Amino acid sequence: MGLILGSFSNVLIYRLPIDKKGILTGRSFCIFCKKKIRWFDNIPLISFLNLNGKCRSCKKKISPRYLFVELFSAISFVLLFIYLENYFEVIFYQIVLLIFLMIFFIDLKHFIIPDELNFTLIFLAIIHNFFSDFKFVFIEHFLQSIIGGLVGFSVIWLIIFLYDRIKNIEAMGLGDAKLMSALGFFFGWQSIPFILFFGSIFGLISAFPSLINKKKNLKTEIPFGPAIICASLLYFFKGELIISLLI
Ligand SMILES: [Zn+2]
Repeated sequence: MGLILGSFSNVLIYRLPIDKKGILTGRSFCIFCKKKIRWFDNIPLISFLNLNGKCRSCKKKISPRYLFVELFSAISFVLLFIYLENYFEVIFYQIVLLIFLMIFFIDLKHFIIPDELNFTLIFLAIIHNFFSDFKFVFIEHFLQSIIGGLVGFSVIWLIIFLYDRIKNIEAMGLGDAKLMSALGFFFGWQSIPFILFFGSIFGLISAFPSLINKKKNLKTEIPFGPAIICASLLYFFKGELIISLLI
């Protein structure tokens, strides 16, 4: 199940940013030679290993991302299945994790975060915090979630607005603002300073090697989405610990 969901995530990572029509109907094809991939070459994990990570017809290398996403999805599904008793929650958290993963890779490559993913995340966050009792509790009161959603969006929007006015440059995208809003809805307003702070640090660290090589300068565009995703995972797993250490 995890492998199948991972395989579908790979399809979305490739198709969402470029072609929204054929997402569910189009057959899989090699992105280099455009040849259709036959079913026995399209089995998650096994086919990649069997083909040695190369297309059967043109022998071009298939991105290791396909293998990584499938493996990640399989492992996270099994872990959630062991940890949670409720099957609905297993599927729920698995989908949230996969959307994080999709945003990570899409933004990394295309510098955009599709609205479909951001809005789904906001929808799931609202379900999580307003209905029923999920295993993980992120907020004490639903107001924290609503304020989180508003603050998350406004903070990034304000940065965009001010940079546009003062320096006349586009500092960030609205996709980042919607993502921060989704995370605010999920984890409450308290998470926003943490995620912004560590997101900026992760962003800087990832750009650091190319800054030293002078391949990039301080004005080069870098995707912020992956850094925000990493920071929110850090918040989820070790947020309390880090905050108590800092304070
Ligand atoms: Zn090919």
